[in-house]
Amino acid sequence: MELYIHIPFCVKKCRYCDFLSFAGKEACFKDYIEALCAELDSYRTLIRERGLDTIFIGGGTPSILHVSLMVQLLERVDSLIAESGAKPREYTIECNPGTLDREKLRLYKKHGINRLSIGLQSANDAELKLLGRIHDYDCFLDNYRFAREEGFDNINIDLISALPGQTAASWERTLRTVAELNPEHISAYSLIIEPGTPFYEIYGEDSENAKFRNQSGTVDSGDGAGSIPPLPDEDEERRIYRMTSDILSEYGYGRYEISNYSKPGFESKHNLGYWTGADYIGAGLGASSYLCERGADGRLKNAVRFKNTGDLSIYLAGKPDRTEEEKLTGRDLIGEYVMLHLRLPKGFSEDEFVQLFGQPADELFGDIIKKYVDMELMEKTDGYIRLTESGLDVSNSIMAEFI
Ligand code: SF4
Repeated sequence: MELYIHIPFCVKKCRYCDFLSFAGKEACFKDYIEALCAELDSYRTLIRERGLDTIFIGGGTPSILHVSLMVQLLERVDSLIAESGAKPREYTIECNPGTLDREKLRLYKKHGINRLSIGLQSANDAELKLLGRIHDYDCFLDNYRFAREEGFDNINIDLISALPGQTAASWERTLRTVAELNPEHISAYSLIIEPGTPFYEIYGEDSENAKFRNQSGTVDSGDGAGSIPPLPDEDEERRIYRMTSDILSEYGYGRYEISNYSKPGFESKHNLGYWTGADYIGAGLGASSYLCERGADGRLKNAVRFKNTGDLSIYLAGKPDRTEEEKLTGRDLIGEYVMLHLRLPKGFSEDEFVQLFGQPADELFGDIIKKYVDMELMEKTDGYIRLTESGLDVSNSIMAEFI
């Protein structure tokens, strides 16, 4: 089983961010860690039964926590690891530049954290400023070097493309600058303009400035940060998207999920778990859990998704308020399995499909699979069904047909 631990605090809210995170809540940190430790304790029996394969402390900005509170949390996690009877195969913490120092890094290392995920987003300082990040590239570079010097040999760097004012040339500079540092893993997502964010006010479909999305010139940010450029137009966005895989492959990075690249053997085990239907427990504000039940014959019987409250004051009062969000059975389970696996260039194994669902994928989806194989958007090779490179580009519309 996987364990996700959410730390919903940041120094400042980025202008594109719709994650469950708050700035300016330092006064709550102590109570939050106490509530979180109590919630973690409630999973002891489950952890004893199912073990802990991977752990991921994410956010927010987990590295915002100062050492004394982090010690409290990591000691509690240590006790859960002891309960599970084996060390996790992968133990990651998310960090943001500007909140990391050598003392914190040493502490993470001491408690067995063996992977760092650092949110850089761009190597271009002007783009970082537009995003509302608290750091510049040099600050990231210092943090990255500290991490290497402290012995971290498995580091992910998060990047975002299709930023306001970004050209294919500036994205290429970011990719090459980062790849030359030789991190083991790079995540490269495209910017999504999410409702409720400052960027939505500027670029959202129904915002006053909607027309501005792909025009030239600048518009006032509306939040006192001055003028801000339009998003790349569709052609430029496509160029940006397509060049990512080509450039990263020059540096030895393989694409193993639509937006994730790694050196061989450094694929994120935790994230692969999410994408292949592993059980996971989410602890902390708004965290989700997913638990499957299998029959004695190995077939998937059902799965349940839970979610903790997203209300900070309720959580701080010691009530995670976990509610069942969704129960998946029959066809829903199959749709979820196919959808998750089609995000992976490897696709899904036809044999595993029969093992889990008791019938061949072709019996259920033969017509859809044939249609996309004929269009060269899907392929069936070596017992796997997968999207081709062109299929991955239009994955959302294909996946929708399997649900
Ligand atoms: S650091 Fe990450 S979680 Fe925090 S506000 Fe920025 S994007 Fe959101």
